[in-house]
Amino acid sequence: MSMFCNQCQETAKNTGCTINGVCGKKEATANLQDLLVYACQGIAAVAIEARKKRINTNAESKYIVNCLFMTITNANFDDRSIIDAIKACNGLRDALKIKVSYKGTEDMVGWSATSDAEFHEKSTHVSTLNFDTNEDIRSLKQYVLFGLKGIAAYAEHAFNLGFEEQDIYDFIEEVLLKITKPSDLSSMLNLVLQTGEHGVQVMALLDKANTSAFGNPEISSVNIGVGKNPGILISGHDLKDIEQLLIQTEGKDIDIYTHSEMLPSHAYPKLKKYKHLVGNYGNAWHRQLEEFETFNGPILFTTNCLVPPRKTTTYNDRVFTTGATGMPEWKVLDKKLPNGHKDYSEIIELAKKCKPPQEIEKGEITIGFAHNQVLSLADKILEAVNSGAIKKIVVMSGCDARQKAREYYTEFAKQLPKDTVILTSGCAKYRYNKLNLGNINGIPRVLDAGQCNDSYSWAFVALKLKEVLGLDDINKLPIIFNIAWYEQKAIIVHLALLYLGIKNTHIGPTLPGFLTPNVLKIVQEKFGVKVSTTVEEDMKIFELN
Ligand code: SF4
Ligand code: SF4
Repeated sequence: MSMFCNQCQETAKNTGCTINGVCGKKEATANLQDLLVYACQGIAAVAIEARKKRINTNAESKYIVNCLFMTITNANFDDRSIIDAIKACNGLRDALKIKVSYKGTEDMVGWSATSDAEFHEKSTHVSTLNFDTNEDIRSLKQYVLFGLKGIAAYAEHAFNLGFEEQDIYDFIEEVLLKITKPSDLSSMLNLVLQTGEHGVQVMALLDKANTSAFGNPEISSVNIGVGKNPGILISGHDLKDIEQLLIQTEGKDIDIYTHSEMLPSHAYPKLKKYKHLVGNYGNAWHRQLEEFETFNGPILFTTNCLVPPRKTTTYNDRVFTTGATGMPEWKVLDKKLPNGHKDYSEIIELAKKCKPPQEIEKGEITIGFAHNQVLSLADKILEAVNSGAIKKIVVMSGCDARQKAREYYTEFAKQLPKDTVILTSGCAKYRYNKLNLGNINGIPRVLDAGQCNDSYSWAFVALKLKEVLGLDDINKLPIIFNIAWYEQKAIIVHLALLYLGIKNTHIGPTLPGFLTPNVLKIVQEKFGVKVSTTVEEDMKIFELN
């Protein structure tokens, strides 16, 4: 079967990429990623049986999480590393089968391959299109799988910092198995909501992991210009990776800059204390093709989003990937130091030989409004809400992407009445965080909580406001949700909002293409989910004009 992938917002014709990914993923890579999911299903089947026999499956669960992370949009384009991961999955599965005396004969626990050609051949027989003959059930299974991938991404950051919950692993594995079995509409809808519930759980866990390790984010100004030292640019979401880089570059006259989703690092007390964490360079992930050229120094990807380099790109020998990420042209960083930290010496040596970054903008942006900081301003915010100085709070969290339609979010932010504040998180903020929208009674009009997983902060704040204002329904708050989405982490964030009972969310610039008309109708009726339209129309719908 040729490739079929419909897991992200950019999917071809909003129905599915079938020849090449709009993201740049090739047919073989897409198929291998499906096979990697299949291999994870094989381990999951055996791991569930193993746990019944009280056999510890922590290593297998973590490996499944890492593999699911590899399959999310723009994380891994490297067939070699995907084939190696499939082999490793089958190895873990077979070793566990012996321990369990597994009797099942399903293909996913029995198949094997050795040569690359055999893996490629097998990969053409697995696809999300095989999930079910009923297209609505298949659509819901895809919905759940994409949510699971988001859960896996956040679970991996949490366990990298030593925070785990067995319940999350149990859920991932049980669901991986459930989507291989026949089901009905109502059970699948239930599973969608349970996925949202586990989304809340994993985001709370990651929040605990990040804040325990690095302190609570606090209001911080971040320089967006450049200094005179050579620099290293670090992108992605993994705060442990940036901490280790900061430790290893201290006192070496190398400046560390964040890119894209790594921006919130500047707000964590235990990361911002490093004086050589000097600023944020550039914008959201999709601008990397130009911004990496002018950065001049080495670049480290800790997670997505990677954009395949152009033929004319000059920075290939300066880019490194780690963790779940991979690109055939770029080096993988997998060596460890005796203390267990990742070995960044190669990047550091390279940085010393590079020119300082070329300035592409000047100024500062203010960040650090995660829930603890926002709640410390709660009295001020409530006063402004009660006095009418703040009429509406607009959650504009989510993703950014390259389509022109995304200009909607810049325009929406610009046209919002001056008595509104924007709560943001994720890389959608790059569409409006440099607009200088002013403040209301000293409260900035753009409150940035952090990464996409920090969208959890807004649910936390909303629930707190509901409690303080004595409301019986979260939907009676003066908060509206206009969320931009792109990939599977955003899917789990949105499912988390639905699980928390937040209705009438607008998402855009398109609704998920993997939802069939029937499923879409159910989601719209049950949760009031709508697609964003034009700025003018949405201002009317949200009663903002
Ligand atoms: S991840 Fe998105 S753009 Fe890439 S192949 Fe899949 S649907 Fe297409
Ligand atoms: S905000 Fe969206 S596009 Fe950006 S990394 Fe998070 S999920 Fe991906």
